[in-house]
Amino acid sequence: MQADDDQRHDDGADRDHDPTKGDTHAASIRASRTVSVKTRGADADGSVMAGCTHGLDPTWCYLCRVEDFGVDPQVLWGVALDGDLSDLERSGAPMSGQMAGYLRFLAGEFELGFDPTFTQGEAATVIASFLIEPATASQLQTLGALSGGDGDQVEPDLTYAGARLRIRRTVALRGLRSA
Ligand SMILES: [Zn+2]
Repeated sequence: MQADDDQRHDDGADRDHDPTKGDTHAASIRASRTVSVKTRGADADGSVMAGCTHGLDPTWCYLCRVEDFGVDPQVLWGVALDGDLSDLERSGAPMSGQMAGYLRFLAGEFELGFDPTFTQGEAATVIASFLIEPATASQLQTLGALSGGDGDQVEPDLTYAGARLRIRRTVALRGLRSA
């Protein structure tokens, strides 16, 4: 499944983001730290910007953020790991590759630095705290566009996880790939 995702992106933008590398990838994150989260969604060379396949604006399309990040989208959509977060909060083990990728993604979403030295438990705790932050502008724009521009449907206290779930449901209803 991850191999398929890679092959669908042939714009060369993910040449240094191989999600299959797991812990090896985490080691490379350690070297580049916040640089990777800041440049990922930005207009680095133009090729990334051209690629929204969802009919939205790639400068804020949340689906592009999730799909192009280089971590299993099931993790970033909250499907793969969220149910385990409360159990993992007591773990002193090093972060798994997936957990590190999830934390790195969410830190980038809130324009915060990513600390690659977190334990699995610290990462789970911080991730849980990100999920109850208010929805981001990117999420709200994506939701508004997907729901036909009717922004009145979005409640003002929508959380990050709540907005993500609404986007995922809307995407599933509309048959877009990703969720
Ligand atoms: Zn898109």
